[in-house]
Amino acid sequence: MNKIVSLCKRRGFIFQSSEIYGGLANTWDYGPYGVELKNNLKRAWWKAVVNDRDDIFGMDAAILMHPKVWEASGHISSFKDKYRDCLVCKKRIKSDDPRWNPKKPNWCPECGHDGIGLTDIRDFNLMLKTTLGALEIQGIDTYLRPETAQGMFVNFLNILDSRHPKLPFGLAQIGKAFRNEVTPGNFTFRTREFEQMEIEYFVEPKDADKFHEYWVKERFDWYTGLGLKKENLRKRQHPKDELAHYAKACTDIEYNFPFGWSELEGIANRADFDLRQHEEYSSKELKYFDDAAGEKFYPYIIEPSGGIDRSVLAFLADAYYEEKVKDDLRTVLKLDKNLAPTKVAVLPLLKNRPQIVELARKIAQDLKKCFITVYDDTASIGKLYRRQDEVGTLYCVTVDVQSLEDKQATVRDRDTMKQERVSIDRLKEHLSDKLSN
Ligand code: ATP
Repeated sequence: MNKIVSLCKRRGFIFQSSEIYGGLANTWDYGPYGVELKNNLKRAWWKAVVNDRDDIFGMDAAILMHPKVWEASGHISSFKDKYRDCLVCKKRIKSDDPRWNPKKPNWCPECGHDGIGLTDIRDFNLMLKTTLGALEIQGIDTYLRPETAQGMFVNFLNILDSRHPKLPFGLAQIGKAFRNEVTPGNFTFRTREFEQMEIEYFVEPKDADKFHEYWVKERFDWYTGLGLKKENLRKRQHPKDELAHYAKACTDIEYNFPFGWSELEGIANRADFDLRQHEEYSSKELKYFDDAAGEKFYPYIIEPSGGIDRSVLAFLADAYYEEKVKDDLRTVLKLDKNLAPTKVAVLPLLKNRPQIVELARKIAQDLKKCFITVYDDTASIGKLYRRQDEVGTLYCVTVDVQSLEDKQATVRDRDTMKQERVSIDRLKEHLSDKLSN
């Protein structure tokens, strides 16, 4: 984990938020490579669940919502974590922390002190409150959304009226969510501000089990399709006592993070809880009318809910390799070609030869029109290769003295490190073939 955190900082993927002020716990900023990786991941998800399908509509709902939404959803009354506080080290221990020992109730798993004690279990609401309006006194209290899901439930009627979909159909959105997390974050695994990618898939109640299974498989395959190793992923079905009171079933897709197996995405069968609740609190009917059967009913909802930041971390961890090359150690991020932040780097072999630099710059400009391409001449070729390997660049195009004569450049493959000479006027075609293969 330390190696990944260090690579992220060194190469500009992820930085501690407000670092020059000492940082802010559990909040992180994405740097130049991090934002590209994150955007690529979002694009891949959007394409798979919205653009490539006919039954899912994309959405982008507001972060701020009417305060009643959070009453209806049950977040105000029950979106709480339960903790014991250690009176010695002041650390907070989750009530379900597996290290806590009921036979030694005063033993703190954080500092190991046994005797002075832990407090009784206390509730902490995870919602971040904010005030709308110019004056705090007159303002209305509401919350930064702790999940994107509610923005889709409250638009159910708008979608029925504007798009007239037939069941089964879904809504999908990517967006920020906020939770006042108080336990340690494991880098970007648990943060206070994070992005979710969520689908709300509306189905006939009788089809709910079938679609729950379908989405668990679909989402599992999406991760492996983008390169996560199968052996680092597993499905975990929630036992009855772990389910939310309204949920009929929930399966987590877990990833074997460097700190252990943990949730990457949850796929829940939420039954008709959300539509019923919002109907009750808004007094707007939220039933679906089935023309063929001539009846109204509440559809069930299957919800695949994943985290972008957790996924970025999983893809980084999975792609991280250290390989011995002659007497050197190369660090390489073997990210899938759809996720790699940079596709091509153009590197001049001799930066003090103006003709080589000019040709390399021209090639880079030209390739930029087709692929995310960078130009770099700030170090020796060995160092430049290592640098590009560390950020997962798929191909390096090197321009040398020979290139001036034979009009060819060397294309180096990130994973195999094999090099081949390619005619400069065929570079675009050559790289396109490789990238679309
Ligand atoms: P956990 O049990 O780890 O707190 P959760 O079950 O509360 O997660 P959900 O409410 O199901 O999480 O949210 C759906 C997804 O959103 C999670 O699978 C995760 O990928 C992401 N997520 C939730 N909370 C956080 C967070 N604090 N930081 C980063 N990602 C998060």
